[in-house]
Amino acid sequence: MLKGLARYTSCMMTTTILDGKATAAAIYDHAADRVQAIKKTSGVIPCLTTVLVGDDPASVTYTQMKRNRCEKIGMTSRKVELPTQTTTKQLVEQIDKLGCDPHVHGILLQHPVPDHIDERTAFEAIPSSKDVDGVTIASFGAVAFDLPSGYGSATPAGIMRLLEAYHVDLAGMDAVVVGRSPILGKPMAMMLLAQHATVTICHSRTQDLDEYIARADLVVAAVGKPEFVRGQWIKSGAIVIDAGYNPGNVGDVEFDVAADRASMITPVPGGVGPMTIAALIDQTMDAAERQILAQ
Ligand code: NAP
Repeated sequence: MLKGLARYTSCMMTTTILDGKATAAAIYDHAADRVQAIKKTSGVIPCLTTVLVGDDPASVTYTQMKRNRCEKIGMTSRKVELPTQTTTKQLVEQIDKLGCDPHVHGILLQHPVPDHIDERTAFEAIPSSKDVDGVTIASFGAVAFDLPSGYGSATPAGIMRLLEAYHVDLAGMDAVVVGRSPILGKPMAMMLLAQHATVTICHSRTQDLDEYIARADLVVAAVGKPEFVRGQWIKSGAIVIDAGYNPGNVGDVEFDVAADRASMITPVPGGVGPMTIAALIDQTMDAAERQILAQ
């Protein structure tokens, strides 16, 4: 059980703030133990390699945060940094090398890559056994078929761990996912479906979005537009997950008004963001264990 659940008290109800930082910290404690156990039994230290193309400041920060976290829990982290003008072919060659390197257990290609690169082709170069960020078609297929062979896309996988930590029973819930990107909205919908929610996916062509949201027991906002989901749309007592991260630490949900109506809500920052890294680390550990067992 998480210590000291944060509460947001409004005139209407008490809302639980879903604390991604605390939940991620518990995952890291366990992961640190797993690193030591793997090291003790096999002599191998799990390794995540991040691949960054270009110098987008946000992407530089995100990859650094992921490597820092690896190091804090005793894993090895490596980085491959490529210039902006890298071609798709050159990027695929680099990823192929990492795919063949037995010391690398997980590969993370930081999204987005520069526009001239075919991101899908680059993602697909990651062997599914090392796809710890869950970006390949094989991983999505495994998630959609509810098979244990693949890794979930890290952000929705982190959201699922957060809901689990707060004992949210999704069976029968009316869930609305706003956004249908291959790394967030779509796999999120599949994961909620696997837990027996009734899922609606909304996107830019959805008519009357507010009406879908107004009847949802669970809303996941993954749009990329600050405070796009208005607080007044939220059904009283609904659970609100804000996956958005916009400049100025602003999410995709109008937090203050939504928090007055929701029973549970994620803050931005401190909600989904930390859980994304925690899921990535946890899945890297799984990948290392499987690769060592297969040797
Ligand atoms: P994306 O690829 O740009 O997808 C955005 C989705 O929003 C699309 O499916 C789009 O629909 C939909 N959308 C756009 N305008 C809409 C509208 N008016 N009504 C309904 N839907 C609309 O973005 P993403 O990569 O999924 O990221 C979404 C957000 O999550 C961003 O804020 C991003 O920063 C954040 N994010 C956070 C993390 C984390 O670790 N916390 C990780 C990844 C992403 P169409 O498909 O019809 O265009």
